[in-house]
Amino acid sequence: MHIAIIGAGISGLLTALELVEQGCQVSIFDQQQAGQAASWAGGGILSPMYPWRYPHAVNTLAQYGKSMYQTWNQKLRPITGIDFEIHDTGMLIFDEDDFDIGLNYAARYQEPMQQADYLERDALEQVNPWINPKFQHAIYFSQLSNVRNPRLLQSLIYYLKQHPSVKFFEQIQISQFQIQHQQVVYAIDQQGNKIHADQFVIATGAWSQHWAKQLKLDIPVQPVQGQMLLFKAPAHWLPTMCMNQVMYLIPRQDGHIVCGSSMAHCGFNTTPDAKTKQNILDACLEMVPELAQFPIVKQWAGLRPSSPTGVPYIGAVPEMRNLWLNVGHFRNGLCMGPASAQLLRQLMLKQPAFTNPLPYSPEHLMREQGKSGSISLV
Ligand SMILES: Cc1cc2nc3c(=O)[nH]c(=O)nc-3n(C[C@H](O)[C@H](O)[C@H](O)COP(=O)(O)OP(=O)(O)OC[C@H]3O[C@@H](n4cnc5c(N)ncnc54)[C@H](O)[C@@H]3O)c2cc1C
Repeated sequence: MHIAIIGAGISGLLTALELVEQGCQVSIFDQQQAGQAASWAGGGILSPMYPWRYPHAVNTLAQYGKSMYQTWNQKLRPITGIDFEIHDTGMLIFDEDDFDIGLNYAARYQEPMQQADYLERDALEQVNPWINPKFQHAIYFSQLSNVRNPRLLQSLIYYLKQHPSVKFFEQIQISQFQIQHQQVVYAIDQQGNKIHADQFVIATGAWSQHWAKQLKLDIPVQPVQGQMLLFKAPAHWLPTMCMNQVMYLIPRQDGHIVCGSSMAHCGFNTTPDAKTKQNILDACLEMVPELAQFPIVKQWAGLRPSSPTGVPYIGAVPEMRNLWLNVGHFRNGLCMGPASAQLLRQLMLKQPAFTNPLPYSPEHLMREQGKSGSISLV
């Protein structure tokens, strides 16, 4: 079976990996260089930031992220030579309003990686000596990790490019589908070239609303800009991830510390600005004042593919027989990526699904959200 995947972010690349491992032929198309959009720009935290603020469907997919990435890292690394560094740092959360709800959530659901402890100042200092003394307590999720997402993408791209069943087409924008009898006959790129395949997957991240008009669907995926800063400290200087009021610090193994992030609805603008930089800086230095001694080595912005509830659209496009979606992962596309791709592969190849696919079904989501007025079939 030949499958064309449109979009080479984490959603498209992991879908390709899942399918190719099952013996499929895969062609991957991206309008720019592969792996350079939101999936590169993100932080790589392998959990929703405050899991209790998300629908259960999001946490279900996120729970598998860490163990699946460990498996893929072991498989890909001998071939690619790239370790994408699953860094077990744990995370401290300082939002006092979330302490009870976070601890109750952890105790109630007992989900993998969500064990939480309440720490007073002495214990907090043992875990991370750099925390501002104004924070006298925290909750500590000791099993949380982050993945070095730019390297993860490099590894996936390297592995897929050397695979005999995969073809990459970069700088090629797919603009529409030729559809007959509820079936895509071919896709058409911006130059008018026809792309034939048995099945087609849309994994176009923040650009996914592009398909709404032709497919006569209201696909409510919008770009939401997030800006980031990168510090360079000595290796292992900051021992844990830290979070307060949706701002975070993410230490990498070599001492880089990713700090973010902002949220702005400003279309497809990816130009970072000085005011947002200052806001991120203020929030991060409030948590870890000593960070100020280290240089900022990079600033960037990326476009999250937002969806109304953060639950991604995974499954067949309504009333189509060979067109599939894997879009709308919003703030959690890296942690949900492996499980999202596995679920889609299972649906496409008519294999038993590892979880109930209904909460992610495009048809179901569109019907439910149509009822609440935020999305409808048009
Ligand atoms: C600042 C920031 C921090 C984040 N932090 C985290 C985090 O800590 N943990 C986490 O889990 N998630 C995080 N995220 C969210 C995560 O990055 C996204 O949910 C995820 O990357 C979305 O992946 P994607 O493959 O769907 O989209 P993308 O990575 O955006 O990929 C979509 C691709 O489709 C291509 N494309 C679009 N239209 C077409 C077309 N017509 N033809 C051909 N190609 C096309 C684009 O060029 C792009 O390469 C963060 C995001 C941002 C911006």
